[in-house]
Amino acid sequence: MADHPQSFLPGASLSYVSPTRQSAWGTYLAQVDRVLPYMGDLARWSGTLQRPKRVLIVDVPIEMDDGSIAHFEGYRVQHSLSRGPGKGGVRYHPDVTLEEVMALAAWMTIKNAAVNLPFGGAKGGIRLDPKQLSQRELEKVTRRYTSEIGIIIGPQRDIPAPDVNTNGQIMAWMMDTYSANVGATATGVVTGKPISLGGSLGRVKATGRGVFVTGREAMRRLKLPMDGARIAIQGFGNVGANAAELFAQSGAKVVAVQDHGGGVYNDNGLDVPALTAHVLEKGSVAGFRGGEVLGLEEFWDAKVDVIIPAALEGQITEARAERLRASLVLEAANGPTVPGADDILAARGVTVLPDVICNSGGVIVSYFEWVQDFSSFFWSEEEINLRLDKIITGALAHIWATCERHGFSLRTGAFVVACERILQARNERGLYP
Ligand code: NAD
Repeated sequence: MADHPQSFLPGASLSYVSPTRQSAWGTYLAQVDRVLPYMGDLARWSGTLQRPKRVLIVDVPIEMDDGSIAHFEGYRVQHSLSRGPGKGGVRYHPDVTLEEVMALAAWMTIKNAAVNLPFGGAKGGIRLDPKQLSQRELEKVTRRYTSEIGIIIGPQRDIPAPDVNTNGQIMAWMMDTYSANVGATATGVVTGKPISLGGSLGRVKATGRGVFVTGREAMRRLKLPMDGARIAIQGFGNVGANAAELFAQSGAKVVAVQDHGGGVYNDNGLDVPALTAHVLEKGSVAGFRGGEVLGLEEFWDAKVDVIIPAALEGQITEARAERLRASLVLEAANGPTVPGADDILAARGVTVLPDVICNSGGVIVSYFEWVQDFSSFFWSEEEINLRLDKIITGALAHIWATCERHGFSLRTGAFVVACERILQARNERGLYP
């Protein structure tokens, strides 16, 4: 489809971005458009979903190791603060744009509301390739960026977290910089911190655990037995590997795994701990002896019950949606299914558990981290896992029941539940002045 000018949707008339139907912000606007007819009187507030509340673009200048001065472009977008402080990660990537950050911030608003966390939605990013920077340069960029966005973030205002190419060390620098600027130790300003600085037990594995728990619940409802269920996973990083471990421990067979380096297949189920050890040593699943080589496209043809995209966005294209043999897709990655593929999967009777609920385990445990930091009282890992299980299971049950009542897909149902909560809060707060 050809690109459209920015006025293709009613909410798209912002002067500072030009979304297309394929772009991230354009996709988000189309998703919102789909649910507005179900919002009743609350639809009069729809403009608050269709535009970010606040957009900050910052220049991040640093002195490089060779003495030159480099300038990086940074963003922090607060899409909605109606239900609480902003919450969402910071991405370091050469392709980061304002429009992408706006969409990611908006999806955080939806995700936080879908699981009923007391947060709005926000996201940040810097256009850079971290592989091109030394550790010292990375620290300088992080500290200067934090200082620049310091005028809008804070434990009660907006709480960043790790995302693509950012990690606990970067969160530690952000927390230290913000604390130095406000003159007080502010552990609650970011989540995903190291345990020694107020991080939470269970945070690292939380997203993979959430994928497993929501998958388990969906399989139970679809009467798909866990014991012997055949699973394919694309992406064997933090999310994919942790989800694989839990599925294998529960009796499922992880038969196919693909990552950036290649694919492996074992009809009897791959030895997940051995594969994890291999990836830790070699950096990829390629060359693993416990299975056969699986080609790039062959992965999508594997005879499986469940497929888990846990790598990048846009992986389930229309062509792959026509072929894949699973009856359940667990969206561990953000935005892995293109809208056209969604329609094909629905027509084929394949259930898609959308990202906004499936991968919400990370932000749920981030919420626990923020709560623990406020009280300076830390919970055991067992307690965290139990609370995560309870929140995510309850959220899924509510969305599932809504879908059954109205005949929605799970994605539309999750958006309806979330948008209703967001617009209800907006309505109750009213407009100032
Ligand atoms: P990661 O960097 O730890 O792992 C990414 C995996 O994807 C790696 O195994 C990599 O080899 C694989 N990959 C990269 N390019 C690929 C390609 N072209 N084909 C096949 N595989 C490829 O990242 P992660 O933290 O596991 O995140 C994975 C996804 O989950 C992302 O979409 C992320 O936004 C989403 N997510 C992560 C979290 C979290 O807490 N980490 C939370 C919510 C959503």
